[in-house]
Amino acid sequence: MIILNTMTTMRLHLAIGILVLSMLNCKSIQPELASTTNQPPNLVLILADDLGYGDVGFNGSLEIPTPNIDRIAQEGVTFTNGYVTWAACGPSRAGLITGRYQDRFGFSRNPLFAPNDPNMGLPLSEQTLAEVLGQHDYQSAILGKWHLGAHPSQRPLQRGFTDFYGFLTGGHKYFPEDWIRADEYEVTSQFDAYHTKLLRNTERVEETEYLTDALSREAVNYLEQYKDDPFFIYVAYNAPHGPLQATQKYLDRFQHIEHPKRRTYAAMVSAVDDGVGRILDQLTSLGLAENTIVVFLSDNGGPETKNYSDNGPLRGAKGSLFEGGIRVPFAMRWPKQIEAGITYESPVLSLDIFGSIIAQQKSPVQLQNPIDGVNLIPYITNQKTGLPHQELYWRKHDQDEVAIRQGNTKFANIDSELHLYDLNVDKSESNNQITRKQDLSNALQAKTNAWLEQMKEPAFLGLRSNKTYDENHPNRFERPKDNH
Ligand code: CA
Repeated sequence: MIILNTMTTMRLHLAIGILVLSMLNCKSIQPELASTTNQPPNLVLILADDLGYGDVGFNGSLEIPTPNIDRIAQEGVTFTNGYVTWAACGPSRAGLITGRYQDRFGFSRNPLFAPNDPNMGLPLSEQTLAEVLGQHDYQSAILGKWHLGAHPSQRPLQRGFTDFYGFLTGGHKYFPEDWIRADEYEVTSQFDAYHTKLLRNTERVEETEYLTDALSREAVNYLEQYKDDPFFIYVAYNAPHGPLQATQKYLDRFQHIEHPKRRTYAAMVSAVDDGVGRILDQLTSLGLAENTIVVFLSDNGGPETKNYSDNGPLRGAKGSLFEGGIRVPFAMRWPKQIEAGITYESPVLSLDIFGSIIAQQKSPVQLQNPIDGVNLIPYITNQKTGLPHQELYWRKHDQDEVAIRQGNTKFANIDSELHLYDLNVDKSESNNQITRKQDLSNALQAKTNAWLEQMKEPAFLGLRSNKTYDENHPNRFERPKDNH
């Protein structure tokens, strides 16, 4: 009892000391407190949209400075061979949020905006990262582009998220004066959905800021709101996806860029970079930087001829299974576990974000389905050697295209032509060795076929079938009778 009393007294003294210090200088004491807690790490997942591999400072961009995004890389790890699982938005995001190759559950196309269709989106057989982390008392918010289903049963709050601020479809106008559709049932066509007012959870709101700035503001606010619990904040910027729209504040930074579209693109990237800076600063001032995993990546490669992005040395662009479509700017910071300034060159996948965060939980994670993502942390910290993935795979179902990367070798069937490259010496995929290495090609073809066997047929029609879908669904945007 004496010992207990002594300990109680010591604790009391400690608590009073901390309280006094907190009152004296709130900001300086909190980082120390946060680092001594035993909470699992928070996750801030920042996803850019259609950002080119070469358009961040940490991948060599000189034209578009991204000092804040670069901080993530400089204070953590740069993945030079970081991949997404599809070369365009929707399926890439479905993989990211489930930790599984999206073709395992038929998410093989960019979904259409169809608020009355419960099958147009992420099948209910799948668990999102927010659902899984929710079992471990995480709060979770998605800010920005959802793109995983617009039917009321498919929306973020039905898929495990605590909060949502953003829009449901695959893109959006950036200026509030363009948001003229009161809700999803006033939409008249696929791309008219770019004009809807934003949603906060289930309510439409009147936003007044440039969209990228609004999403950054929300991220900062949710960090404040969630700071006492473990949290997962998914900042799904739609920038720099088209339409190319930026405010004068950001355009003024790029007077040296002559081409007006490239200038606007650069301004949009700069707005994202400012937002990343605000998020990182908020983590620091709340004392949460040490134990928060911050990840930055793009959902696919840049569509160079559409938004004037630049994939650097990589061949191909958004939509392509060449590197320019699937290899993306990718960096991660977690000061508690990862040293600053690491460059990690073995191939990693967007699915590994899921694999990495669930591995940090103190009690077993209940998964409905086996995942493909792996825990990268022991590889980055040299506790494990070898490759996180023996093979990485991609499928474009409707084009009958596939690709596999095994070590540094990439084999692909693109546009009915077979390709084989050694990415270690030929990252631009310019020297096709298919005729010279027939045995290797055959072996990789066999591996790819075995993987394809595990994949499902597409679960819904995609963007390319917009017209057919319209014809078959004349009531596509009709307001349900019980909704007014
Ligand atoms: Ca995209």
